[in-house]
Amino acid sequence: MTIHTATSSYADPALHAQGLFIGGRREPGAGIPVVDPATGQTIADVPNASIEDAMRAVDAAEAAAAGWRATPPRQRSEILRRWFQLMSEHAEELAGLISLENGKALTDARGEVAYAAEFFRWYAEEATRIPGEFRHTPSGSHGILVDHEPIGIAVLITPWNFPAAMATRKIGPALAAGCTVILKPASETPLTAYAMARLGEEAGVPAGVVNVLTTRDPGPVVAAMLADPRVRKLSFTGSTGVGRVLLAEAAKSVVNCSMELGGNAPFLVFDDADLDAALDGAMIAKMRNAGEACTAANRFYVQAGIHDAFVKGLTARMAAMKVGAGSDPATQCGPMITQKAVAKIHHLVSDAMKRGARATTGGAPLPGDGFFYPPTVLENVPVDAAIAHEEIFGPVAAIYRFATEEEAIRLANTTEYGLAAYVYSGDLKRALRVGKGIETGMVGINRGLMSDPAAPFGGVKQSGIGREGGVTGILEFMEAKYYALEF
Ligand code: NAP
Repeated sequence: MTIHTATSSYADPALHAQGLFIGGRREPGAGIPVVDPATGQTIADVPNASIEDAMRAVDAAEAAAAGWRATPPRQRSEILRRWFQLMSEHAEELAGLISLENGKALTDARGEVAYAAEFFRWYAEEATRIPGEFRHTPSGSHGILVDHEPIGIAVLITPWNFPAAMATRKIGPALAAGCTVILKPASETPLTAYAMARLGEEAGVPAGVVNVLTTRDPGPVVAAMLADPRVRKLSFTGSTGVGRVLLAEAAKSVVNCSMELGGNAPFLVFDDADLDAALDGAMIAKMRNAGEACTAANRFYVQAGIHDAFVKGLTARMAAMKVGAGSDPATQCGPMITQKAVAKIHHLVSDAMKRGARATTGGAPLPGDGFFYPPTVLENVPVDAAIAHEEIFGPVAAIYRFATEEEAIRLANTTEYGLAAYVYSGDLKRALRVGKGIETGMVGINRGLMSDPAAPFGGVKQSGIGREGGVTGILEFMEAKYYALEF
């Protein structure tokens, strides 16, 4: 695997000089081109794993399973802690690599590395606090002892938008729980995953505990792994569409699933909100990762009294953003992941404008070889426009006007998704009341950023099943075992 571009100087070659990572061995290969979204140029070629390769990864995970499960929690913890340390020491190279293959601005990439590494630190701490329980039955007939055991071999599938953090959010709890894993990163951004596996090796992760493979044909390859009775867990982060397919696939072998799927976050601003704080929060909630985030604010519902000032303020801030290659330190909004993503964003914008929306800034793709879409604000968006219902995954803020609290809650809930929501109000009681009325797994109150390894991250409705992070995240990789005690 080679990287041939000027921007590769960001990456330590030792970090990405590897192929499929199975049983602690690197197997070079090719077949999946990796493209720099800022230029459209191919920057690397990574191996295309076959079903046989995937089965070898399951064999390797199986061979390592008993030893890892028996490794004392303190030792597992120390390995994860060293991995955190190594990620922190290599933060600049990792950020450069993320920016190179994903396109995101370096500041976003640095933020991602810090966030990603924190999952290893958090789970290094949680590894030594695996809970158990004892209680008496109400009748007094016997004692109930509950232990938690590692669930078994886990297949981890991650998307391209957070190539480091989505992997550590799964590997951290899995390893802390005592599971061995096979990570399949997104084809667009495999370099970061391979680099992190290399650091894991250096941190002391035994061979076969973490295996990484890339494939151009994820459907059959993942289906084969799920059909293997040794695989007991699927942890998936990606689109709701693929999540549905995988749930059906997992059902055939009744594999335990955690699903972190798509979002369509509403961002509610009430008349009594602090306007500047709401604008600051809106920029973070909308523009982190250039809008390519599952928690990205998609629908801005703004109360009539503050609406015009909010549109004016957001337009000024979005128009002032510097768009460019992620590797340029001045860039605030990098390219989209693919040309297809640009076309989808523009389709949503055009549809809204045909139905009466007006772009106060942006509104059309930028010319050139890279996949750039400018920060865009749409006002007067009709609620039946496709952009109100589909995930935008780009730097477009669609603004709607509302009159009453009840209307805002109703509009916020008119979606199949239920991941994140944001509420801005000077009245905390109201903000909490509105938060309670919104059907999501997470609510930001006067805050545009909610992701934190110590918090339970996840959605309701068609945004997913289960939670990652927080004190319960480790239990997604464990099974409760109940012992009935006669004494
Ligand atoms: P995606 O198309 O669903 O792909 C996600 C992963 O699934 C990739 O590794 C992909 O591999 C793999 N995949 C695709 N088809 C598959 C199949 N039939 N069987 C098994 N694996 C398959 O999603 P994406 O475009 O990468 O990511 C964007 C989506 O992720 C958005 O919807 C976003 O909201 C969601 N997301 C959710 C969260 C959350 O925590 N809720 C966080 C981040 C992103 P290939 O790359 O090889 O196709």
